[in-house]
Parts: sequence; C-alpha cells; structure tokens
Amino acid sequence: MVGAERIGNWPRSVIVVGAGIVGLSTAWFLQERGVQVDVVDRGGVAAGASWGNAGWIAPGLAIPLNEPSVLRYGLRSLLNPAAPLHVPAGIDLGLWAFLARFAVNCRWSSWTRAVRANLPLNDQCIEAYDVLAANGVRAPIVQAPITAAFRTARQAQGLLHELERLSRAGQQVDHVTLDREQLARHMPLASGALQTGVRIDGQCHVDPGRFVHALGRAVMSRGATVYNFEVSDVRTDDRRVVVLSDKGTVVSADAVVLATGAWLPRLASRWGVRVPVRAGRGYSFTVPVERPISGPIYLPDVRVACTPYREGLRVAGTMEFRDPDAPRVPARLEAIIASARPLLEGVRWEERTDVWVGPRPVTPDGRPLIGATRAPGIYVAGGHGMWGLAHGPATGRLLAEQITTGKQPAELRDFDPLR
Ligand SMILES: Cc1cc2nc3c(=O)[nH]c(=O)nc-3n(C[C@H](O)[C@H](O)[C@H](O)COP(=O)(O)OP(=O)(O)OC[C@H]3O[C@@H](n4cnc5c(N)ncnc54)[C@H](O)[C@@H]3O)c2cc1C
Repeated sequence: MVGAERIGNWPRSVIVVGAGIVGLSTAWFLQERGVQVDVVDRGGVAAGASWGNAGWIAPGLAIPLNEPSVLRYGLRSLLNPAAPLHVPAGIDLGLWAFLARFAVNCRWSSWTRAVRANLPLNDQCIEAYDVLAANGVRAPIVQAPITAAFRTARQAQGLLHELERLSRAGQQVDHVTLDREQLARHMPLASGALQTGVRIDGQCHVDPGRFVHALGRAVMSRGATVYNFEVSDVRTDDRRVVVLSDKGTVVSADAVVLATGAWLPRLASRWGVRVPVRAGRGYSFTVPVERPISGPIYLPDVRVACTPYREGLRVAGTMEFRDPDAPRVPARLEAIIASARPLLEGVRWEERTDVWVGPRPVTPDGRPLIGATRAPGIYVAGGHGMWGLAHGPATGRLLAEQITTGKQPAELRDFDPLR
C-alpha cells in the first residue's frame, strides 16, 4: 500500500481531520498501535452528525439504504413535501447526478453486496465499543432491544421480510413478534393506533454526544492535540502530508486520515476518491415523556427513531438531501412531529428542546469509503450513511490496522475508496 511504503516502515505520526465518531475512533485505535496522533476539526468534538443522532448501535437494523423499495418510495416522496424523504426542488446538478447513481444501485444485487460488505462491521460493532469503554472512554453503553411498532400486521410484514432477506445475506437478527398487549407492555408510550410490534434483540444504544466527547477526552489524554480550524487543503510531498487552513495554519505528519463525514468530497475528491458522498440530513429533538421507556422505539412507517435520552426521549427522523451547512428547515421538524404524534401517547411534544439537524454521509452504493487514496499517506474514512455511529469504532480499528501494517484487511476490501 502506497502510504506505508513511502514512509518506510509505517507512519509514526498521523493527523486525523474530523472529530466525529469515525475520526476519533481512528485516532484512538492508531494511538493503541503506538502512533502519535493529532486531530483537527472546524467545530470541535462532535460538531457534525455524531452529536444529535439516535444513538443506536444496532447491528440488527443496520440495513443499507439502497433497497429497491426506497426508489419507489423516493419517487412518491418527490410529490409530498411532508414525506420523511425530502429532495428540495432546484437545480443542483451534483445532487441529481448522485441520486441517479443511487437509483442505479437500488437493486437487490447491489443491496446484497452492501449487506455482505457490512457484515464484519456489524459483527464487530458492539465489541469495538466495549473495547473503548473498557479502556478509558467513560460513557455508558446500554443494552436493550429495539421495539418496532406498526399500525397493522401487514405493515409489520415489511420489516419481517427485510429481516428474512438480511438473514439470507448472512446477517442473523434475533427478533420476536409482539401482539397488541405485549407491545403495550414493552412500549408504554404506544398509542391505540399501534397494533403489533417486532422486538429486535441484542442491540445497544448510547448518548452519542456524551460518548463522542468522552472518546475525544480519551484521545487527548493519550497525547493528542485537538486543533480547531477548517482544513482547506491537504498537500503531500515525498515525506510528509501537510494540512492547511485558509488563514495560514499548517500542521504536518507522516500521514493524514480524512474523516469529515458528509463534507468528505471537498478534501478527498482530488486524491482519486470518485464515489460521491452527499448529506442526507436528519433532525432530532428531546421531549419529556410521562412514562419511562426501557429501550429504543422504531416507527418504520414514518421512519422515526426514538431513544431514551437523559430523563426524556430523543426523537430523530427525516432524510433531506440538502447542503450539510444549510440552516434548519422548520417544516421538516413539524413533519416528524405530525407523523409520530398519532402513534405515541404521553409525549409532551410542545416542550421539545435540543432541536438539531445533522448530515448523514450517504454514498450511492450503501458502502462506506475506508482506506488509502491514490496519494501516498492520505487515507479516508467516511460515508457510513445511517449507521456511522454504530460502525465508527470498528471502522477506526480496521483502518488503524491498514495504516500501521501496510496491508488492507480483508474486511475493508469492499470499502476501497478508489472503487
Ligand atoms: C437524525 C440522525 C439519526 C441517526 N441515527 C443513527 C443511529 O442511531 N445509529 C447510527 O449508527 N448512526 C446514526 N446516524 C448516522 C450517524 O450519525 C453518522 O453516520 C455518523 O455520525 C458519521 O460520523 P462521521 O464521524 O463520519 O461524521 P461527522 O460526525 O459528521 O464528523 C465529521 C466532522 O468533520 C468536521 N469537518 C468537516 N469538514 C472539515 C474541514 N474541512 N476541516 C475540519 N473539520 C471538518 C465536521 O466539523 C465534523 O465534526 C444518524 C444520523 C442522523 C442525522
């Protein structure tokens, strides 16, 4: 692999650009292998998608987005401004090129390839979190099933078929169907509109902001500096990789990892990374609830995820293909509330706080980009879409192995950024 050959043995120092779950996990596992790491982020730790997400470490539901049904659903959504999937009208040629490529990948063959490629990340994700938590990252990881709830048994069949497909592709998911009474016991917030459920066992969740900040502290306590500036360029010569800002700040090391989430193409495309990454923005907020809930709730028909958060509930949803830095669109938030309100009781929607928008880094083929670019010493890690929180630590561990051994782990072959 070019990066390691160039430096002789392996990089002794690495700069990670991006202090989200993916960048900080990579930093932590590089430190574990004796590498001196520094981190740069334009907004500090957890300034991107890694803060306000639903917090699920859910190998049982980490399903690639490019299912054939998403294409039909997407086309219908174009006509409905309140739909969970939203593509703003307008002439963004890059976005339409991306969506065309995504549409081409909405085939079972491409979806199955993505499921199979993601198997190692799913298999390793909870254990990789446990490694972090057992070694100085002080934030709780909660084990709890996720309860998916439906208005009708027919709607539940959709998820059950998906789980069967996953199982045929190699991803076994332990689950149990629930009748109305069992659902009410599991999910005391279920309204009378919800008649049936599916309990997905063996899943975990975290408070993502708290976890990523704890990870940032752990990385700093092992010697990293976290610089706060926007990287405008990355250059490389025979021996060093140099990271620069528009204001003249310069940091250099033997290698660099670009882990800038939905902003990845801005720095990575000139190094041969042609797979586009676009922001599939999601919204979240916190609401008080009148009855405590014991685990996450999934409302597949309205594409809403709810997670116990502090004393209340974090509600997350929507996929809006818009610039990652664009301001929040209040109508998207209203659409989440309008869709979930009839399905949940005892939620004080009007008292919401922590309103947030963040960009999921979405690739057109359901596979992230993890590995070496064509430039010696420049690596990328990103594009995990809906499941970057779950897959971040396992990604960081595998990429640290590649950087420090010079060999691409078999698990990363299908995620080659130069594909
Ligand atoms: C509503 C919602 C719910 C979600 N729920 C889940 C879930 O339950 N489970 C799950 O696994 N995933 C979930 N996700 C997806 C998950 O949040 C993302 O996949 C993941 O956080 C991506 O992490 P990252 O580190 O790649 O990117 P980010 O967290 O976005 O980090 C990228 C960082 O790069 C920095 N940056 C960008 N450009 C530059 C630059 N030029 N110079 C310096 N710094 C730069 C940014 O400031 C940012 O901090 C959800 C996402 C959303 C939006």
